[in-house]
Amino acid sequence: MTDYETVIGLETHIQLNTITKIFCSCKADSWEDPPNTNICPVCTGLPGVLPVLNEAVLRKGAILAAAMHSEIRLTSFFDRKNYFYPDLPKGYQISQYDMALGNGGYLDLPMPEGYVRHVGITKLHLEEDAGKTKYEHGVRYVDFNRCGVPLVEMVTAPDLRSADEAAQYLIRLRQLLRWLGVSEADMEKGHLRCDGNVSIRPVGSTYLNPKTEIKNVNSIEAVRTAINKEIERQVEVVESGGRVESWTLDWDETNNRLTKMRSKETEADYRYFREPDLLPLELTEDWRDAVLAELPELPLERRVRFMSEYDLPLYDADILVENKPLSEYFEAAVKAYNGSPKVVSNWIMNEILRMLNELGLNADELRLTPADFADVIQMVDAGKINNATGKSLLVKVQESGKTPQAIVEEEGLGQVSDDSSLQAAIDKVLDASPDEVESFRGGKEGLFGWFMGQVMRETRGKADPQLTRELLGKALKGK
Ligand SMILES: [Zn+2]
Repeated sequence: MTDYETVIGLETHIQLNTITKIFCSCKADSWEDPPNTNICPVCTGLPGVLPVLNEAVLRKGAILAAAMHSEIRLTSFFDRKNYFYPDLPKGYQISQYDMALGNGGYLDLPMPEGYVRHVGITKLHLEEDAGKTKYEHGVRYVDFNRCGVPLVEMVTAPDLRSADEAAQYLIRLRQLLRWLGVSEADMEKGHLRCDGNVSIRPVGSTYLNPKTEIKNVNSIEAVRTAINKEIERQVEVVESGGRVESWTLDWDETNNRLTKMRSKETEADYRYFREPDLLPLELTEDWRDAVLAELPELPLERRVRFMSEYDLPLYDADILVENKPLSEYFEAAVKAYNGSPKVVSNWIMNEILRMLNELGLNADELRLTPADFADVIQMVDAGKINNATGKSLLVKVQESGKTPQAIVEEEGLGQVSDDSSLQAAIDKVLDASPDEVESFRGGKEGLFGWFMGQVMRETRGKADPQLTRELLGKALKGK
């Protein structure tokens, strides 16, 4: 049997999180709003109206283009993409065709296996969304709320080689979109939509075979599953002497299978021409420079810097840059802590992430500031409080909004580490448990942990564990 390699390109539609739509002042996000409530004559395409470009859409689109290493064209055009469909009241969609806002671009995609896949971007343009239709009880309903919602369409070159790479691309794209603050990037809500173009060829060849397009995939896991199924199907077709045809396939989420929707249209069907109701989009170099200046350090760059600057393992760096607030929290805490960054990272990965998960918050929404957090670690380091107290102290600071210092004083949480008071507690425990002391001395050394627990209880958890172990060992052997 021939060995095949897979060739995948992804077409993504990204809903920008602007307040209003791309060409009118209707509310852009209609999630959970009743159908046809955020519409006006412009977005429903009534005669005699004119579109006006929303600058926020342009700005967010340009930031995304810059982050994808795409050239921001100083002159670009809007074009009409003509087609007939019930959810498109104008009979055309305003899009950008040959002279779009972004020109070229790429994403260097780090794979968990350690290699980097260079993914080229062939298309990056602004466009308006269409409405949607819904079939229910034998009737087709139409909702125009989504008409005019701002989108960036971004298409990759056929550079991806497996379903895992396609999934990884979407994971990194979603991370980037949220990092830049240009989209909520929630696939379930349609903020990030993805169609996959899939073909196969014998390993070693460079030509492209006819591809199929997979549509309506609503999660990253579904993209992975659907592409793998399609690869399997194409290999079977070719192995049995058939030819893969350029179909459009529909992913059926409930039954986990692909069905043929139609033979694919070609671009000529859309009869693109320049949008006569909008002027060419002319940007000044100053405007472009201002956008570029706004571009933050990107997640993948920050990940590399965290490894070199703080000497963190890849595993830690990857988790810490998962979102921007978390990575900023880490850096602020490292500065305040003034010790080993790896110690801060460990505390974040164990304690802070658990707290964020339980509370459903982002790191910048915590009452526990990075400085308070660093204080707590320092108190543990200095032996003022023990590790367990430190962990519970983080929660107390978060709940009360008080400083760690104030809580330690108020609640008397300081670690018992002076010999005499600790010795007194140990004596008390031993006096109260003569039977256990006898068993221990008779060889049941497993009881040591139980004695530790008793001393901790006696000191209300504040005993310095190391010193306790030492003094308790002496007391148990000596008497
Ligand atoms: Zn409108």
